[in-house]
Amino acid sequence: MPRIRQLDANLVNQIAAGEVIERPASALKEMLENAIDAGATQITVDVEQGGIELIRVVDDGTGMVPDDLPLALSSHATSKVTTADDLEKIQTLGFRGEALASIGSVAQVLVQSRTRELEQGAQLRCDGGAFSKIDVWNGRPGTRIEVRHLFYNLPARRKFLKTIPTEMGHLSEAVIRLALGFPHVGITLKHNDRDVYDVTSTSPLEERITRFFGEEVGTKLIPIEAGQGDLKLTGFIADPSVSRGNNRLQYFFVNGRCIRDRTLGHALQEGMHGLLMVGRYGIGFLYLEMPPELVDVNVHPSKAEVRFRDTQVLHHLLRTAVRKALHGLPMQNVLQAPPASSSSAGNWKLQASPPTTPGLFPEAPARPVIIPRTVLPEIPPPDRASTSIETKRDEGGAVQPPPPPLEVLAATYETVTPTYDGPRALQFHNSYLVVLEAEGMLVIDQHALHERILYEQLKERLRGGQLEVQRLLVPEPVDLTAEQFAMAQAHEKELAQLGLETQAFGGNTMLITSYPAVLKRAKPAALLRAAVEHLSATGETPSVELLLDKLLCLMACHAAVKAGDKLTPVEMDALLAQRHLCADSHHCPHGRPTSLYFSKQELDKQFERV
Ligand code: ADP
Ligand code: MG
Repeated sequence: MPRIRQLDANLVNQIAAGEVIERPASALKEMLENAIDAGATQITVDVEQGGIELIRVVDDGTGMVPDDLPLALSSHATSKVTTADDLEKIQTLGFRGEALASIGSVAQVLVQSRTRELEQGAQLRCDGGAFSKIDVWNGRPGTRIEVRHLFYNLPARRKFLKTIPTEMGHLSEAVIRLALGFPHVGITLKHNDRDVYDVTSTSPLEERITRFFGEEVGTKLIPIEAGQGDLKLTGFIADPSVSRGNNRLQYFFVNGRCIRDRTLGHALQEGMHGLLMVGRYGIGFLYLEMPPELVDVNVHPSKAEVRFRDTQVLHHLLRTAVRKALHGLPMQNVLQAPPASSSSAGNWKLQASPPTTPGLFPEAPARPVIIPRTVLPEIPPPDRASTSIETKRDEGGAVQPPPPPLEVLAATYETVTPTYDGPRALQFHNSYLVVLEAEGMLVIDQHALHERILYEQLKERLRGGQLEVQRLLVPEPVDLTAEQFAMAQAHEKELAQLGLETQAFGGNTMLITSYPAVLKRAKPAALLRAAVEHLSATGETPSVELLLDKLLCLMACHAAVKAGDKLTPVEMDALLAQRHLCADSHHCPHGRPTSLYFSKQELDKQFERV
């Protein structure tokens, strides 16, 4: 039977490192927090090879006295708490006294530090837990820490590190969080000597947000301010017309510390409820200030989650503040009002399509079709036209659709006889096409079908090596986050293979120089954005084939007509004519059906005619 042994201190540290130091970005986060706790006003970060080779953080904080250096690198040694009481009201970002010891046990660390009071500073090396002797160091007041070769002595751990762009994305994110949490601190980030971020200590929050997330977000910020007792809430949300497919742009800070919190995330979504499309997430940068005893930060080893004394109060405060901020906004910014001419039938919108290519359905016999009368084009009386454009809000700010006009309830019917010159396809709700066939009726999801067609076309041309590329006369700049930028750069080749050619353009801006010619409807910038969002969401690098296929799907989805797009008769015909050209016109690239078929036989059965 194996006997129980006390583990040696370094092994204990390495095990602890497993909890907090998952990747270069976690080491950087801890180092940044230490700089803030030391009162730094300027922090300089240099990393090499996604931080795997080197992470260097230089700050102008208080520094440490020479004798403290070995303690800084020892576990359970901290200058931030002394008693259990202190744990109840933590005012600093750090308090566990474990981060540097953990890092020192799994990397090669050099700590150099000098206080303002002392003439001379000191330096100490720690190589996988083994300390050097303390030497004299004559640098500027403050602290300079270099972490090299993270996990060099833990090959298994090192293997789990992702590609350089992925690690770089996480490092940038750590810098962003700190720069947003402490807007009075200047911070620079360089990767392999290239500037990634440089925000000065005088750069205000809005400017930082624009810098990190681009003009699209930065120009749509709405200030938030609320308070209750000792609680203070400030910050910004973005107009709900800019949203994201995930909640990554929902930042919450508690006394400067960036945290994840489901309650706060939920409150933000609730505040925007009715103004966001299903599955979309609002954008927010929200700051809570509260006495430290109202929040327990000693919950999570990486301090990314906290426990609040009273979550309900916070939920209410945030939700109502967001609602209030959105209340005064002009609606058009948020919801697109339907055009007046097509809204007389309220929710009912059908449109007859005269054929432009006769003979497409030569087998269709001339049989009478019954169509509700309200589908026929009608000019709405002026008063009704105006009520149907207005979108009303209830007191809570939720959007209510306009009431349906009375005709819908009392619909009368009229017969229309389709001949080759008569209507053949109807657009229903600007989303579905209803097509009559010899033995039945087809209901087509216009977006799904178009998406499939574009996907097949793209694939076919890519396979044949003849994906035509449309050069942009004026290259289009796209602001990306550092992570997205790194992704776009890392996958430049694949994107170019798809006709989306890019070029780095200073900072995190990419220039689009060309896009695939088949995608006439797509906006090149939106396409690139969607592609990199997809790449950074998956995090890993799939095989080239898989990646290309995913990107094809995405491009097709982006470029296809959407549900809600009104199609002209010519467009409807073109769409229907092309459906026979694709290998599987019955499913969209995501596997959803593109059409449903109702046979005459089935209808007869349903109506109990047989
Ligand atoms: P914690 O931050 O939880 O105290 P760390 O292991 O991160 O634990 O750091 C240990 C100690 O080293 C800190 O309490 C602090 O006294 C000192 N220290 C670390 N980094 C710095 C820095 N950049 N400037 C001044 N002191 C530092
Ligand atoms: Mg710390």
